[in-house]
Amino acid sequence: MLYQLCPKCNGQGIVSKPPWIAGDVNEWISSGGGNYVCGVCNGAKIIAVPNQEPEEDMLVDEINLEKPPLGLMPRKLHIENRITDILNAMIRYVEVGKNYSIPDEWYDELRSLGKDISIINEKENNDGGGKVS
Ligand SMILES: [Zn+2]
Repeated sequence: MLYQLCPKCNGQGIVSKPPWIAGDVNEWISSGGGNYVCGVCNGAKIIAVPNQEPEEDMLVDEINLEKPPLGLMPRKLHIENRITDILNAMIRYVEVGKNYSIPDEWYDELRSLGKDISIINEKENNDGGGKVS
């Protein structure tokens, strides 16, 4: 059950018009102070409203909350993809011929990536433990 601010007394719990006076009657014989317990919420200031079906947007939000956000591609996979890219580029250069020499940076990056891979492999082997080689 949901609750909302009482629309009759606007969350005050009291109204200046006695509850037994019809809504479209603006004149009545006042018996005093002028404040009466709200006839809609009985002074509770809030009223219960039935549960409503959530909007479709809310449902999508709830589903998204349950799923973790998209993470990262594993670093090893990323490096392996990069190595494949470099090797393919080298092959393309070689196939075209002598006018295109493979840049030194590519070799450097390959070496560097190779080191990264072996470091990751070492870590994996240590973490996993007992890996039979
Ligand atoms: Zn009220």
